[in-house]
Amino acid sequence: MFLKAFGNHDMTMTRRNFLSASAGLAATPALGAGAWAAPLPREADIVVIGAGAAGIAAARRIMAANRRVIVVEASNQIGGRCLTDISTFDVPFDRGARWMHNPDSNAMIRLARNAGLDVFAAPIGQKIRVGRRNARAGETEEFLAALVRANRAIDDASRGRADVSCASVLPKDLGDWAGTVEFVLGANATGKDLNDVSVVDRARAQERSAAIACRQGLGTLITTLGKQVPLSLSTPASRIGWSNRDVAVETPAGKIVARAAVITVSSNVLTAGNIKFTPDIPKRHLDAAAKLSLGSYDHIALQLPGNPLDLARDDVIIERSSSTRTALLFANIGGSSLCSIDVAGSFGRDLSAQGEKAMIAFAMEWLTRLFGSEVTSAVKRSTATRWNAAPFALGAMSSAAPGGQASRKILAEPIGCMFLAGEATHETLWGTVDGAWESGERAAEAALRRIGALRDTEPATSAPAAKRRRSNAPGAPIN
Ligand SMILES: Cc1cc2nc3c(=O)[nH]c(=O)nc-3n(C[C@H](O)[C@H](O)[C@H](O)COP(=O)(O)OP(=O)(O)OC[C@H]3O[C@@H](n4cnc5c(N)ncnc54)[C@H](O)[C@@H]3O)c2cc1C
Repeated sequence: MFLKAFGNHDMTMTRRNFLSASAGLAATPALGAGAWAAPLPREADIVVIGAGAAGIAAARRIMAANRRVIVVEASNQIGGRCLTDISTFDVPFDRGARWMHNPDSNAMIRLARNAGLDVFAAPIGQKIRVGRRNARAGETEEFLAALVRANRAIDDASRGRADVSCASVLPKDLGDWAGTVEFVLGANATGKDLNDVSVVDRARAQERSAAIACRQGLGTLITTLGKQVPLSLSTPASRIGWSNRDVAVETPAGKIVARAAVITVSSNVLTAGNIKFTPDIPKRHLDAAAKLSLGSYDHIALQLPGNPLDLARDDVIIERSSSTRTALLFANIGGSSLCSIDVAGSFGRDLSAQGEKAMIAFAMEWLTRLFGSEVTSAVKRSTATRWNAAPFALGAMSSAAPGGQASRKILAEPIGCMFLAGEATHETLWGTVDGAWESGERAAEAALRRIGALRDTEPATSAPAAKRRRSNAPGAPIN
């Protein structure tokens, strides 16, 4: 997922860069070294709910300020929607996010390198199939021109009076490429069809430049960065009592009282009511979370030894399609025989609801249509993710409904001494690991200020993060 074409309005895009990336490697994450074996502490300065990218970033920031933090995580592993599966295939397979972006300003990439992980720019070849053949140069140019016109229309509309749906402003003359444009800008980039995506949200999304992968997987990366963090796995927060002075977080392992909380659960988990709040959290926040619901994005992973598709390492393939019943192929991941067919949006949601078998059947049918029938007999091993059914995520990534872009700022407003974080609270890097990480740092700093552990004048964690935060200020220009 994620298009480099997000902010591009000219014709300088080449065949190689109409997509900046896609999503997903796999793994069974190791227990973080800081994971709690002892009884849960009764007190902390700040408690963090959730050990995904936002939660780990928040906890590290609090530890850097020498304050006591404890992270409670519902699942039995660190990483949340960054989850590397190391047991299904002979290479790590990211079941959730697989790319980071913006290497010049991305703190996670620097931290990954410092931790000895192998971080590299993925060599992504991007191709389009027209049935069983590759698109001709002229067809590719036509598609890129259609993509540019669609992006420009969305950008123009975002400056209008009303925050309408992206689909409603698309040029009517996209011809044979309408379905592909819809898939690339909608389902594949945001997890939702363009009908369900706000023009302002889409236009405010920063360009996600350069796809940066971690050879060991993004889940492994978050697990590694969480190693020193005191955290308790398999410890869902069930109820949070809150006021302006303190919070009391109830879990099956006991209650923790703290002076502030950073809450990083997804917008869908928040609106599902899985955590009860006493008193209830304001309707304003719940309404905001509902407008930032998660789209659907899943990987169907097939091991195809012998390169039967005859593709290069890390090739990304889409097709000319007249409907949304389509997918993106990420082939020969990292030079291995692992290929991922990504499905998303309303089609992906319906398909994943039918279960793993139906998903794998679709992937086989789709590959056969594009590459011929020999492909399916080559499949050695397969698996599919189903993020909408994952109880602690309930979807893939947030995008704002038409009219809903302002909800991101509302969701990040403090509630007593509770501070919400997570990708949905990031105004421009929503839907990304990078945005989740920054949001965790930002919420931790707000919580530290709240308890008097950080003065308003103190600098933010890192220069790039501070710079990015400034550029995300309301009214600041978007790249
Ligand atoms: C298939 C897929 C592909 C993606 N591809 C990319 C990509 O290539 N690049 C990219 O940048 N982004 C990608 N994303 C999006 C990215 O994964 C997310 O934006 C990011 O990981 C969100 O991090 P987070 O910390 O905000 O939330 P989460 O990772 O959801 O963390 C929240 C944590 O809270 C925990 N939790 C939930 N309920 C409770 C509770 N009651 N008590 C305690 N803990 C609880 C959850 O278990 C979870 O660990 C992808 C997502 C998916 C699903």
